[in-house]
Amino acid sequence: MADIHTIVMNLGDLAGVTALAIQTDPARVGIWHPRLGLPSGPALTQAMTRQTEVFAIDHVTIVDPFYEPRSAMNLDPAGVDASVVLLAAARHAVKLDCGKLVWPIQCGAEYDAVSMALQRAQLVTHLIELDLPGEPLVIDMPFVDLTDQQLGEIALHADAPVHAAWWCEYDRKTPCGGCDSCLRWRSVADAAVPPGLVGR
Ligand SMILES: [Zn+2]
Repeated sequence: MADIHTIVMNLGDLAGVTALAIQTDPARVGIWHPRLGLPSGPALTQAMTRQTEVFAIDHVTIVDPFYEPRSAMNLDPAGVDASVVLLAAARHAVKLDCGKLVWPIQCGAEYDAVSMALQRAQLVTHLIELDLPGEPLVIDMPFVDLTDQQLGEIALHADAPVHAAWWCEYDRKTPCGGCDSCLRWRSVADAAVPPGLVGR
């Protein structure tokens, strides 16, 4: 196995598969996939596995960043839980001597959310530097201020295997087509599929 120099945090979604597609040296990329206890969790993990196969990535780590029983959790992906997940991913990257962690968070034009994400990344970087001075970890956030349409355009231009992503809120064989996430992403995902590729 080649040395890994980049870890991509991958939730199995469109941002995750696009983040993989824009890496210049996929052979040296590893995937870190957190199980977050979401209703769509198994489908997201399956999607992440499909992406792993498409990109022929050997280094895949699936973790549960939280230790409470699911019933006791009220996951807040935009709040303090996001810090826990990001720090766990950063820890994984530095344990592997990777200099770069890709965090494919996407906040669109919600500038407060963009600002919070940037601060969160900076603070996690500082925490890492407390223990590893002189070996900075770069947290790359390539989509942080992109709209859904802009992310879709990047996916198209990067020839991302959009069919390997999952966007439905539920754990099903195919997206339900009616949930908020399906309504949000279906047209973007369709637009991101190159012309002539049907049945994806
Ligand atoms: Zn759905």
